[in-house]
Amino acid sequence: MILPPATLGMLGGGQLGRYFVIAAQQLGYRVMVLDPDTNSTAGRIADLHIAAAYDDRNALSRMANSCAAITTEFESVPAETLAFLAQFVPVQPSAETLAICQERSAEKGFLKEHGFPHAPYADIRSESDVLNVSTDLFPGILKVARFGYDGKGQVRVNDAEETLAAFRRFKNEPCVLEKKMALDYELSLVLTRCASGAVKCFPVAENHHQQGILDHSIVAAQGGAAGELSIKAKAIAEKIALAMAYVGTLSVEFFVVDGQLYVNELAPRPHNSGHYTLDACLTNQFEQQVRALCGLPLGEVTAHSAAVMVNLLGDIWFANNPEQASEPDWEKLLAYPSLKLHLYGKSEARPGRKMGHFTVLGETIEKPYRTAMEARKAIGLSDC
Ligand code: ADP
Ligand code: MG
Repeated sequence: MILPPATLGMLGGGQLGRYFVIAAQQLGYRVMVLDPDTNSTAGRIADLHIAAAYDDRNALSRMANSCAAITTEFESVPAETLAFLAQFVPVQPSAETLAICQERSAEKGFLKEHGFPHAPYADIRSESDVLNVSTDLFPGILKVARFGYDGKGQVRVNDAEETLAAFRRFKNEPCVLEKKMALDYELSLVLTRCASGAVKCFPVAENHHQQGILDHSIVAAQGGAAGELSIKAKAIAEKIALAMAYVGTLSVEFFVVDGQLYVNELAPRPHNSGHYTLDACLTNQFEQQVRALCGLPLGEVTAHSAAVMVNLLGDIWFANNPEQASEPDWEKLLAYPSLKLHLYGKSEARPGRKMGHFTVLGETIEKPYRTAMEARKAIGLSDC
């Protein structure tokens, strides 16, 4: 067991890293963040911040020397970085599981190999792969295999010709072509698995996206959004974690189509849709990440409240003037006593950039949902 005041390492300085820093510091740990951005939101509040590239061996050696254990907040860290660090210090997740989660072909191949339900797809590595795809995959979505997030690196395509044009626009980078599914809605589940194999699953969130970016998540207290389906989602997510011998916090996104679950993608870290755990659960997803990393017993994950979480993207900074960012009128949100406002302290607002979120809590879901939708409108978000 790694106990406070040990120093923990975090690869990545975004908001997920920032909440890890807060959770770790609350428990009395020190945190060292590696992020090339000197102004990163997690780096600014960490005990130590190294501003260097993720493959900078000097920086990594410094981390290995200073940290009792190291984890990451995003999947695009080079897997070699984790493999290098793991020679000297415990690292979660493993380089092997990160390599699967950071490359869509590898991820889908893993799901296929282990018989987990997923959307029909084809690997696209060359122009001839495009010409050979089954027409059953259309209409489809062409997704770059690496570095896509928040709907970036994805194009909707209706036939082989459009796919070829999109593939060329992606500079012939490896892609997957996925059948576009008629979604009833989406679910996600965050779990934490210990080295002993013990697993705790947070309640399932029902997710609503706009333009490929998470807009809001709905979580009924006690057991999650979708009753029967949430039990099935837990069973699938636990099997995935077991099949990967995963240790740490893992997020699983699902599509619901005709009442059936399909695994969309995996994230080897806490998840945006799990932000409600900060305010609605006995232990939040970031504290759980700290606990797993340090070999502490996992915390209780029950939700004590129903919750609706709404993302605040940079767009609302430009509501008054598309040329010039200005601070939204936070008083409008702060007026709701059951609303918890979170801002990540990012230095610059940009359209589509995740700047913060708010969560509305209540005993049952109806009232927080109504309040969240009203508050959303009050701060200038479009209807959903
Ligand atoms: P990322 O979250 O990494 O940007 P996803 O593959 O999760 O990429 O896609 C983002 C969102 O786009 C999904 O949550 C879903 O709303 C929509 N989407 C992605 N793939 C499909 C699909 N095959 N069918 C229907 N909708 C999809
Ligand atoms: Mg996704």
